[in-house]
Amino acid sequence: MSNVLDLVRPDLRDFAGYASARRESVTGKVWLNANESPLPSPADPGLALHRYPEPQPAALRNRLAELYGVAPERLMVTRGSDEGIDLLVRAFCRAGVDKVMVLPPCFGMYSVCARVQNAPLVEVPLKEIDGAWTPDLPAMLKATAKRDVRVVFLCSPANPTGQALSLHQIQALAQATEGRAVLVVDEAYAEYSAVASATGLLDQYPHLVVLRTLSKAYALAGARIGAVLADAGVIRVLRNLQAPYPLAAPSAAVALAALAPAAVAEARRRVQVAIRERDDLARTLARVEGVLRVYASEANFLLVRFADAEAAYRQLLRNGVVVRDVRAMPRLGDALRISVGTPDENLALLKALQKRAAA
Ligand SMILES: *Cc1c(COP(=O)(O)O)cnc(C)c1O
Repeated sequence: MSNVLDLVRPDLRDFAGYASARRESVTGKVWLNANESPLPSPADPGLALHRYPEPQPAALRNRLAELYGVAPERLMVTRGSDEGIDLLVRAFCRAGVDKVMVLPPCFGMYSVCARVQNAPLVEVPLKEIDGAWTPDLPAMLKATAKRDVRVVFLCSPANPTGQALSLHQIQALAQATEGRAVLVVDEAYAEYSAVASATGLLDQYPHLVVLRTLSKAYALAGARIGAVLADAGVIRVLRNLQAPYPLAAPSAAVALAALAPAAVAEARRRVQVAIRERDDLARTLARVEGVLRVYASEANFLLVRFADAEAAYRQLLRNGVVVRDVRAMPRLGDALRISVGTPDENLALLKALQKRAAA
């Protein structure tokens, strides 16, 4: 089996990153090594914020590893998945040389991070057949055969289509990319999906990377906590590229609290409610005049095509309902992306749309 670390940028292979005060494993009672204030701020709510935080808080890392079913050395806690996406492109793509593959229409951060690293972008559009969005496997194979694609971003369930890839599809892509590229599966919406996580394939494919986040199902978008799940060697490489103290202590503390058993149970209960709301909303929306198509969704949002998306968008705004205008995305010129809200919020959305139909 080829070694995934052979895909790391050659100039980074012996790069050890910044040796921060917190990375040295020393112990003591008097801490005079990091130029911190010896006293906490009067505004400190008891979190000892006068000290630099742990780069990878052990308790949080262990708890996330347990939640996602991987060994802790296979997990890196990140400042949201956004940071994981950025670090992966930096680690594997030489500027101007190694390419990033995306499957549009897709989440915009992949191409933004590629652009920042000056990694050329290869776009292999998803194919839409009878309301199902599927990767164009032959076109992807053709593109990876050239061996200059280093990172492939998949999203499952995908933003903005809402649809999930099967493990068979991911496995086929993992086989095709082995020894050539890192295959990233962004699972930001996994909790809302019936399809199993790709983490089960990590043992088999060291070049596979899974991204998870607490921003959606765990209601912590404001805390900025995500996780990269990967081969332990890949995690070590990414750790060396990460900022010295990436995780703010209050965010790490609230994330750990959100992963206590009772909080996880509540998050799962809410996910079940969101799934029911999503499916109800999809059925109701499909009957609203001017709605052309509501795509089946495995996430906490719906992608909807309208006869007049501009009018629908404006009508919603006039009623104080803000949805995501995705019309600038390829082949979504008539579509809006609608997050599933509370039952009351979903009702407000429907009322606003129906008002338009009546007008
Ligand atoms: C919302 C979302 C994320 C989450 O990003 P964070 O940085 O963790 O908040 C990741 N990927 C996709 C596709 C998303 O839609």
